[in-house]
Amino acid sequence: TEEMLRKSDKLSVLGQLAAGVAHEIRNPLTSIRGFLQLLQSRASENEDYYEIMLSEIDRINSIVGEFMLLAKPQAMNFVQTDLRQLLRHVISILDTQAILTNVQIYFESEPDLPEIWCVDNQIKQVFVNMLKNAIEAMPTGGSVHIHLKKEGGYVVASFIDHGCGISEERLPTLGEPFYTTKEKGTGLGLMICYKIVENHHGKILINSKIDQGTTFSILLPIEKNKPVS
Ligand code: ADP
Ligand code: MG
Repeated sequence: TEEMLRKSDKLSVLGQLAAGVAHEIRNPLTSIRGFLQLLQSRASENEDYYEIMLSEIDRINSIVGEFMLLAKPQAMNFVQTDLRQLLRHVISILDTQAILTNVQIYFESEPDLPEIWCVDNQIKQVFVNMLKNAIEAMPTGGSVHIHLKKEGGYVVASFIDHGCGISEERLPTLGEPFYTTKEKGTGLGLMICYKIVENHHGKILINSKIDQGTTFSILLPIEKNKPVS
């Protein structure tokens, strides 16, 4: 309807504005960071202060960065996608981080998996977030298993870790912005995942036990997002 149209117009203007503002925040930050580093290299005192200032700037930077991703008015360009290939790519992106923290990644897929229709870059972002969270849940190392299978009209990607787990009372708050238990976290990753999966008419299921591990399952419909021709 007309009302809905007007609303989405407003949203995209707002999104563009937000992306612009985010950009304008990042540029001066980069310059401040550079000068701070220069001063740090010359300073013989107050070294801790420099470290704190630099890491606080990095924190602002990553929050602004995640907001830019959200705000960017992205074209919802649905393409037919082989999730197996997409996941292999995601694993290669996070390989170094996994090795550095002693995490092994195992990937298994059903042989005759159908392709799905999705905005491949967005789904890639969801999987990166999921795998990153799984790795970060095991700071002293461990293994992450990723399974791909077909189930009831969906392709299901499961990310299984044996990390810190999530307590029952916290489960309902997942996906709320800025909820994080990590020193360097933004608490925006899951919110973005939920938004993207919702746009794909999919679902996210969580199974978690404190100190035992967590399974995130992403369900993406096989037929639903086909463009009508
Ligand atoms: P961030 O990773 O920046 O903290 P997210 O939105 O990705 O933000 O996650 C929010 C919070 O959800 C995390 O800080 C963590 O407490 C919890 N969480 C997410 N995934 C997992 C997981 N696999 N195991 C344990 N906790 C998790
Ligand atoms: Mg995260």
